Amino acid sequence: MNHDNVDLDAVVVGAGFSGLYQLYCLREKLKLRVKVLEAGGGVGGTWYWNRYPGARCDSESHTYCYYFDRLLLEEWSWSERYPGQAEILRYLNFCARKLNLEKDIHFNERVLESEWDSDARLWHVKTQTGKTFRARFLITAVGCLSSTNMPDIDGLADFEGEVYHTGQWPHNKVEFDKKTVVIIGTGSTGIQAIPEIARQAKKLYVLQRTPNYSVPARNRPLSKDFHSAFIKEIDAWRSKMLKSRHGHPWTAPDRQVRKTAPEKRQNIMEAAWERGGLGFRESFDDVLLNEESNKIMSDFIRQKIVDTVHNAETAKKLLPIDHPFGTKRPPIDTNYFETFNCDHVHLIDVRENPISSIFTNGVTLSNNTQIRANMIVFATGFDAMTGALQKMNLKGRGGLKLEDAWYAGPRTFLGLAVPEFPNMFTITGPGSPSVLTNMPRAIEQHVDWITDILSHAIQCDYVEIEASQAAANEWTQHVTDVANKTLLPKANHSWYLGANVPGKPRVFMPYAFGLNHYRNHCDSVTANGYAGFLLTK
Ligand code: NAP
Repeated sequence: MNHDNVDLDAVVVGAGFSGLYQLYCLREKLKLRVKVLEAGGGVGGTWYWNRYPGARCDSESHTYCYYFDRLLLEEWSWSERYPGQAEILRYLNFCARKLNLEKDIHFNERVLESEWDSDARLWHVKTQTGKTFRARFLITAVGCLSSTNMPDIDGLADFEGEVYHTGQWPHNKVEFDKKTVVIIGTGSTGIQAIPEIARQAKKLYVLQRTPNYSVPARNRPLSKDFHSAFIKEIDAWRSKMLKSRHGHPWTAPDRQVRKTAPEKRQNIMEAAWERGGLGFRESFDDVLLNEESNKIMSDFIRQKIVDTVHNAETAKKLLPIDHPFGTKRPPIDTNYFETFNCDHVHLIDVRENPISSIFTNGVTLSNNTQIRANMIVFATGFDAMTGALQKMNLKGRGGLKLEDAWYAGPRTFLGLAVPEFPNMFTITGPGSPSVLTNMPRAIEQHVDWITDILSHAIQCDYVEIEASQAAANEWTQHVTDVANKTLLPKANHSWYLGANVPGKPRVFMPYAFGLNHYRNHCDSVTANGYAGFLLTK
């Protein structure tokens, strides 16, 4: 074997939640020769890169972990209701160690190009270090939110202070003390980072384009006996998550906001607000289906903002009015709105007065106001769902580029496979429930399904497996139709629609009909001999 060429059965790209589990399944269950290629210097994926202050998951800890291995569940206990970034990273390192995964991961190995060789029926995966990995199967485990969205603002290169993107946060400690900081973006990330940065910085300017809804997380330490009680009920937790549409351990009760008497629904919303977290949205089952119901819930949150923020003008600027609650990914927070009561925190509305450029010492707005700062933090999100895949420069049959195949938006079968890209599978790809769910549940379902289809291909001597054009067209239409039955496409700047990245086709990308229904679809494809796939002997 040539030093720079490595021959394998499978290459997995990415060593986050999905890549680690996929490696485990292919190596331990199918006994394949498999390697993971990871751009970062360690495992963790999203949690390796997103180290910004306040980074925390909004799924509850005991649900945001692997369930495929009982020992992992028993041996790891979480410290807080929601896991912070550092704890999740420790957890994933613990899993990698327990399952002896690191020996099959190449770190600091960024994939630059991946091309299907139709003659040899192999993928050629080229990396930044000059290696080529050749494999029969290519599995992308690159995450949905890993390609950062950095706005192209005039003069950024001239800024003399520090510049960070939350999605590529440095490993060394960033000091905010005695500094004036500008943060751009008030999505889930900004909403987590702003209170933490405000606690440390001398002055903080929050540049907000779209005001956002946010519900209190009510994070807290878990009690000492939480873990022992939890492990007695693992099966019940698993079953609740698998039955739900979003992979969390609850389902919305059968009641509609607009049909519930005003006093009763107010009490329900107050109680849900006190419990905090993503469950708030699920206190009724029609919040994302009916405009009137959504407006009632949106009004409730707007009133909470008015009640929390002392300065009436600031409160007014913070009111989300241009999209229904939940149509952009709903953030949960710790003291987000309260932070605007601090004298050193200033809210700037950059929809009314957009950023025009950056100068050596700060940011200039279009009315020529200059905000002087020592640091600019971009919390401006991601080229979601397709960005990281496209960065792999994938070329399928006949050299077809993924970006050309997807010029009008991503087209997949089940979010798992793409026509003209044989023997390639995309964990949590566009067209799958992924970001609308508690991710580890979606990931385990995808990895199990991919492992099964590869096992089938190997047993039956299929040399190629490829989604058919008809199956991908039908599925992609179904993904759109399902989304259109909800209010989800109504948010103008949502990354669900690709609308946050200039020039990106506007297509609702995740599958909105629920992980439970989606699993049934995948199972019926399997039961029907992988209907929708072209299988070549
Ligand atoms: P995001 O939701 O896309 O928010 C980006 C923010 O930056 C928005 O407020 C956006 O404004 C603003 N922005 C973008 N470009 C701008 C520009 N040129 N000028 C001014 N403002 C600009 O990104 P995110 O907050 O990083 O969150 C992405 C996703 O990551 C979340 O939705 C969630 O799924 C995940 N996440 C999860 C957690 C968690 O589990 N707790 C935490 C963080 C992130 P517009 O809205 O006007 O575009």
